[in-house]
Amino acid sequence: MSSAAADTHPLAPTQVVAIDGPSGAGKSTVARLLARELGFAFLDTGAMYRAVTWHFLQAGCAPAECADEPDRGAERMRRALSGARLELDAGRVLLNGRDVTHHLRVREVESQVSAVSALPFVRTAMRDLQRGVAVKGPVVAEGRDMGSVVFPRARWKVYLDAAPSERARRRSRDFERQGRQVSAEDVLDEINVRDRLDSTRSDAPLRQAPDALYVDTTGLTTEAVVAKLLEFVRTSSSERLREAR
Ligand code: C5P
Repeated sequence: MSSAAADTHPLAPTQVVAIDGPSGAGKSTVARLLARELGFAFLDTGAMYRAVTWHFLQAGCAPAECADEPDRGAERMRRALSGARLELDAGRVLLNGRDVTHHLRVREVESQVSAVSALPFVRTAMRDLQRGVAVKGPVVAEGRDMGSVVFPRARWKVYLDAAPSERARRRSRDFERQGRQVSAEDVLDEINVRDRLDSTRSDAPLRQAPDALYVDTTGLTTEAVVAKLLEFVRTSSSERLREAR
């Protein structure tokens, strides 16, 4: 394969900053700002899984609703997924042309998104869409499996982490901004449940890629984290990290 052909191979997009990490590590905010600074597109893959979960809820076939008949449920979800056209447009998520952005953080979505994202047929469909975005141009992509599975050849890989108490605090602030009162304990429980499900599923579990830069954001401001990542992108790469290890 020529190098030009290799660059357009779906597994090959390299102009990718792949950011992974657990819930509440600050990935979305940091990735959005970093993308703006670099002039790259921004890909929020959590929003994609949330939109699919919302779609299944609307179709009455989300995992909890189909728990009694898993085979029939899976078949209904497959059918619902094949009828879903997902588009990401300037921070909004469109499902079959309808803006569903404001539904993505509701409780029902939050409680079922990890079960939906564990389904291999859902992951395969999302992976193809995500690679399709990166084939079009440079991208900052954030999620759980960006560096490990979706963009194994990403030029820059980052794993953002933070202490559980800090992650819960950040999520509480997000909820407050949405006008939702959720106790710190409930937020911590929700984060723990999602992290456990996301890191123990068999298909593309949450993992730090071996060549990712590990950044503990506990006690750091958003600006400080963005500055750290900008420096990494401008002066280094995951290949260099690999060579240095
Ligand atoms: O990042 P966010 O909290 O919006 O992600 C919502 C959920 O989507 C995660 O808890 C996880 O189950 C799923 N997800 C995933 N793979 C990604 C991004 C998100 O499984 N790349």
